[in-house]
Amino acid sequence: MSFSTLSLSSELIHALPKEINKPSDIQALVIPEMLVDQDVLALANTGSGKTLAYSLPLLEKLKANTEQQALVLVPTRELAIQVSDAINQVGQAVDLSALCLCGGVDKERQQQALANNPAILVATTGRLVDLLKDGLDLSRVHYLILDEADRLLDMGFWPDVQSVATHTSTQRQTAMFSATFSEELKQKAKQLMQSPKQVSAHQENSTNKDIAETLYLVNKGSKTKALIELVGLHNWSQSLVFIGAKENADSLTKKLNKAGVSAEALHGNKSQAEREAALAQFKSGETKVLIATDLLARGIHIEQLPVVINFELPMHAETYVHRVGRTARAGKQGVAMSLVCHGEMEALTAIRNLTQRELPLQDLEGFPVTDQPSTGESKRAPRDKKANRRTNSKKSIKQFQSKPKRQAPRAK
Ligand code: AMP
Repeated sequence: MSFSTLSLSSELIHALPKEINKPSDIQALVIPEMLVDQDVLALANTGSGKTLAYSLPLLEKLKANTEQQALVLVPTRELAIQVSDAINQVGQAVDLSALCLCGGVDKERQQQALANNPAILVATTGRLVDLLKDGLDLSRVHYLILDEADRLLDMGFWPDVQSVATHTSTQRQTAMFSATFSEELKQKAKQLMQSPKQVSAHQENSTNKDIAETLYLVNKGSKTKALIELVGLHNWSQSLVFIGAKENADSLTKKLNKAGVSAEALHGNKSQAEREAALAQFKSGETKVLIATDLLARGIHIEQLPVVINFELPMHAETYVHRVGRTARAGKQGVAMSLVCHGEMEALTAIRNLTQRELPLQDLEGFPVTDQPSTGESKRAPRDKKANRRTNSKKSIKQFQSKPKRQAPRAK
């Protein structure tokens, strides 16, 4: 199948990058539906080309009706920037542009840019609600797209999504894209859509078949060494490492750098400018290893990323699917490795159940497992309150030593 059989105009088809020469599965399914004004509920693997699946029909329609506007809601700033860049790349061929509206960026500048009537708004819900309070008019929005809809729901943005939807045209067309669909999301989706057509380019909650998954059972305390060993051994051009807590991301990054591996951390405690810089450095290949929290698990595309490593398994099984989906994008092969310790067996079982994959655990050479499987019982002896009080009242020699002087904070 070619793009020209999808009733897209030749200007748009010619504006596509050379490597995009035939529609992906999700594009072949979604584009015809959106072009005939059908509401769509689309289940698509990460990296399947879903951004163009909705952007191309939006541009096609908006080109014919410049009075109308489209609104794309996304859960994170990073995704907002990525989506608006992707739209602008193609949109300029038909003189249409996308404006990114997300937090961390000067609001006044966004308001000035809004005065130019951009055809497509790509927004995170927080900033959009803020702009609505300042009088933003969304009545020309005839197309509403919810990208990563399950994450919009998981992150608690749904009330904002619903409120934003009430400001758009009642004649609007709505499309939702997500890599996973829970019953709750399907129910919520129906409230915003009219008889949506459900399309699916992959098996629900499955991981991409082009990803080779390996799971190593290791001691909890050996994970850092194991990671350094794996990165050194495989000599991947780049690796994206997922970790649970923001605080641990920084300390792991320090340890890697100390071991001579160029690593950067990316998490929600960093400023927007720092987040963008860390991501840009990784995308450009300058940083070899990026240690990220789940802020990055969805939506973000990193060109030819060869490997994703789970330093810790995620709490939610669906997040595993999103994390490993950062590799093997757009039909390329990828590797996903996970370092699993005994304490993570419950999370592993949930991932196995969700993906319906065996995901066997292997030994990692040079890292014998000496931790004992958890019995589910607390290792702590029952608390002896008296003993605690005795311990607390004990004085340590340190208390008698003079405290070291605090150093003045260094100027940034
Ligand atoms: P997305 O799932 O929208 O984040 O897209 C993932 C990557 O696939 C992006 O780099 C797109 O440029 C690329 N892509 C999108 N559509 C196609 C296509 N039909 N053929 C090859 N690559 C594509």
